[in-house]
Amino acid sequence: MDVTPILDPLNDAQRAAVTSGNAPALVVAGAGSGKTRVLVHRIAWLCEVESVSPFSLLAVTFTNKAAAEMRARVESLLNHAVGGMWIGTFHGISHRLLRTHWQEAGLRENFQVLDSDDQLRLVKRIIQDLGLDDSKWPPKQVCGYINARKEEGLRSGRLQDQGDRTARQLIRAYVAYEQECERTGSVDFAELLLRSLELLQKNAEILAHYREKFRHILVDEFQDTNAIQYAWLKTFAGKENPVFAVGDDDQSIYGWRGARIENLQNFERDYKNTQVFRLEQNYRSTNTILSVANSLIDNNRGRMGKRLWTDGAAGEPVHLYAAFNEQDEARFVADRIKRWVEAGKTRRDDIAVLYRSNAQSRVFEEVFISQGIPYRVYGGLRFFERAEIRDALAYLRLAKNPDDDPSFERIVNVPPRGIGQRTMARVREVAVRSRITLWKAAENIQQSDLLAARAANALQQFLQLMRALEQDIQDLDLAAQIDHIIQASGLMRHHGREGNEKAESRVENLQELVVTARGFDLDNELYADMQPVDAFLVHAALEAGEGQGAQWDDCVQLMTLHAAKGLEFVLVFIVGLEEGLFPTGMSLEEPGRLEEERRLCYVGITRACQQLVFTYAESRRRYGTDSYYNSPSRFIGEMPPELVTEVRPRAMIATPVHHNLKTSLFAQDTGIRVGDSVMHAKFGKGVVLDCEGAGTSARVQVNFEQKGSKWLVLAYANLAKLA
Ligand code: ATP
Ligand code: MG
Repeated sequence: MDVTPILDPLNDAQRAAVTSGNAPALVVAGAGSGKTRVLVHRIAWLCEVESVSPFSLLAVTFTNKAAAEMRARVESLLNHAVGGMWIGTFHGISHRLLRTHWQEAGLRENFQVLDSDDQLRLVKRIIQDLGLDDSKWPPKQVCGYINARKEEGLRSGRLQDQGDRTARQLIRAYVAYEQECERTGSVDFAELLLRSLELLQKNAEILAHYREKFRHILVDEFQDTNAIQYAWLKTFAGKENPVFAVGDDDQSIYGWRGARIENLQNFERDYKNTQVFRLEQNYRSTNTILSVANSLIDNNRGRMGKRLWTDGAAGEPVHLYAAFNEQDEARFVADRIKRWVEAGKTRRDDIAVLYRSNAQSRVFEEVFISQGIPYRVYGGLRFFERAEIRDALAYLRLAKNPDDDPSFERIVNVPPRGIGQRTMARVREVAVRSRITLWKAAENIQQSDLLAARAANALQQFLQLMRALEQDIQDLDLAAQIDHIIQASGLMRHHGREGNEKAESRVENLQELVVTARGFDLDNELYADMQPVDAFLVHAALEAGEGQGAQWDDCVQLMTLHAAKGLEFVLVFIVGLEEGLFPTGMSLEEPGRLEEERRLCYVGITRACQQLVFTYAESRRRYGTDSYYNSPSRFIGEMPPELVTEVRPRAMIATPVHHNLKTSLFAQDTGIRVGDSVMHAKFGKGVVLDCEGAGTSARVQVNFEQKGSKWLVLAYANLAKLA
């Protein structure tokens, strides 16, 4: 047996982890130190050397994309396909369990998965039905409450309000929500986990079966598991099956969603004889990038404490660009990208623009489109979350399963067919009163005299359309089914008629959905025994949390910092580094949250292999109207100034007319003027050549005797004026 391909590409510490025995193992290590690589090689090692059957492996990753990548990497190491191995996300694997054991789990066979948007709609309706005012009970927060309880393993029946009025209403909503899910056979994301955990806990036989089956459990990004995921892993593991977990406390960025860093600390307590491995060499980034990351994260307290080093080159300095506004910021980034690509330094795929909030992508998209830079946005309005795609899938769902109330609600009047709010209110009333589905209620009501003739007629036509769809698609393959549905439902015609750009992109997206269905890969253990349509619908529901449906060629990658976890890029832009944006305004009030923001920044920085560029905008338009004046993020001030170089490509942008005005203001604030001699703690003596910006975003260009000319942010530079 040749183990060279498995062991050769590893350093000693990695090799020790990969070849460790059957004891529980925890690899705690910093970004880019090869944790994911260790996990992949561990799987290969188990299969090849320890002769563990792939059927006995359970590997959990954080996204579907990561799962697909991991599988591909294992297969390329082993040089053959590995069937039978369960690699997936917590949600994907839970879903598979519930599909297999739907009866024991107390579900119906064709239960449907609610993604977060479906869930929000349902909660909205429940709030209305309960007669609550949704300005006082915002549906998003009620959803958050329900999900958080489920993540703690708490069903509504176990909650008590203890005389608290707010709690009483929230519990009422939770109770009604659970009833509604029960009635419609719906399962939300948090429910997938909770119910599969309950399934294992309540069914000794099923549990015994899976403990017998999964001899090895491997987990990536362990620092971001929440309480229920931790319990879920522990249940699978039992006393026999070792868990092999890799993680980094400095990259825990889902505290707001219930993730617990403590899980890393508890691991050794919960699993006796845990072997702990530490990896310290970073293989991803240049020395400069790594030093910036290290000094930033040093500002957090209570870390497990590790130091990363690299024997790579120092590399390019990290760049910082202060933009005048968000447009200027996007143009600067576009210009840099073009230069890199034209110089042949990298493919566009290897370039990422990372931002704190999804809304920031829009300006970049506009600029990239106008400059002909191909790009892909992860997150935000993800492919499967676009309204037209959801509509099409809702038709497909309802055609397959008339009891699917959320889908019924969604498309009953899309495209418009004269079934108004009043008609639907009647239908809902009947459904609730008789405890039947909307479909059945619509059938009943349409034969009664509860509706005006026109409304009854419209409803009847809708029911007929759906019955016809169901018939028509029976013998078609998946792509043809979707193609037929988007035509026959009138969706395509509806969007095609509008004739503006937005509508055009909707038409393209619908076409893309057919293409996606055609390329849909059923060959995944997690979809075993499922009909292609069902598998596709599940895929769409789970995927509506991450990537886009289609893979495009060579595109710049736009995504939130959260979505960038685990990935790496040659060139990384972290944009919008402003107080109030990143770190967010909310985090400024809570030290714990601020530290999480800092970890998020650390995650962003450590994505970069060769070049890292920060940008911030002095003024930024948010929510369309007002401009905000922001000071640069405190995170910039926490990085070593000698490693961060300010860049000002003046040729690209005209100096704004108020430049001189600002300069004079600036001089008033600080007393420092062009021509003054100043002293800097690190760079020594220098002369001020230029200054711009005001207040906390004021900058000076100083020509230092020893270090040459540099732009410094005045608020952080601590310059002393020399007489
Ligand atoms: P993150 O914390 O960001 O998830 P990670 O610890 O999982 O990072 P990997 O993604 O596994 O790190 O590895 C980072 C990069 O370093 C990858 O490109 C990987 O191929 C490379 N790498 C890891 N170990 C080695 C090694 N021993 N020799 C050469 N390259 C390595
Ligand atoms: Mg990783």
